[in-house]
Amino acid sequence: MDLWFTESHTENVRFSVKVDRQLYSEQSDFQRIDIFDSCEFGRILVLDGFLMLTEKDEFIYHEMIAHVPLSVLPKAENVLIIGGGDGGTAREVLRYETVRHVDLVEIDEAVVKACRQFLPQTAASFSDKRLQCHFEDGLKYIRRCENQYDLIIVDSTDPFGPGEGLFTKEFYGNCYKALKPDGIMVNQHESPFYKEDAYAMQRAHKRIYDSFPISRIYQAHIPTYPSGHWLFGFASKKYHPIIDANWKEWKKLGLKTRYYNPKVHAGAFALPNYVEAIINEVE
Ligand code: SAM
Repeated sequence: MDLWFTESHTENVRFSVKVDRQLYSEQSDFQRIDIFDSCEFGRILVLDGFLMLTEKDEFIYHEMIAHVPLSVLPKAENVLIIGGGDGGTAREVLRYETVRHVDLVEIDEAVVKACRQFLPQTAASFSDKRLQCHFEDGLKYIRRCENQYDLIIVDSTDPFGPGEGLFTKEFYGNCYKALKPDGIMVNQHESPFYKEDAYAMQRAHKRIYDSFPISRIYQAHIPTYPSGHWLFGFASKKYHPIIDANWKEWKKLGLKTRYYNPKVHAGAFALPNYVEAIINEVE
């Protein structure tokens, strides 16, 4: 008997992965959490039926969400991660010895517990003493912060359900306030390819563009996300993502990465014309 996990990418498109077995399933206070073992992608984390990560391609997402801003701020000390309960973003951030403290604000403690048990590849960072977890809504947490962080990484679910508030103008404005004068905010920015995703991405970009003096979008190829073409937002108070990348300091760190490198960094900001057109409409 074949077992398949299937996610609807649009009303007319489905993405299926053959699975060996289901390792975990829980309805938490916020969402349904499932973890599967798959033949092609290793373990898979699914929230409310949406694939969050697979062991095989999570390195692309986590390297791109963490190292792009950290090459601009290789001496960042205080980092805030909102969402990211699988631990993959924290794992990459904590590879920087200069990082002294990471606050991870995850609404759903059950995600962290499940990942610690079944996804040690991403959850390894939870034992790092520099990481402090706060189990609450990131939208509420950020209201209390001012001039505190060098970097904020918004590693959220999509803009519906518990993640909805993390795509609002209020949230981005509060992120601006929570950052130091040379701070950077990076977020997972949805996909430009299918109509509904593109609309969500455009709306988020407009709100970020209105909240920060520098707002750029960069991309990566993530095979298991809808269309495989995924975007990230880079919003900054002072630094330009390419001109101000500090390669001298970054290279001194000697970090080994599987996807990310200085050429990928620059190239990721070169967007296809159809993506530029979607963005230009709201700039
Ligand atoms: N890499 C993933 C992606 O883009 O598909 C995101 C993965 S990560 C597991 C997303 C996390 O954000 C989830 O664990 C979810 O519980 C958390 N989250 C959603 N809304 C949140 C909120 N308002 N505050 C804090 N965390 C939130």
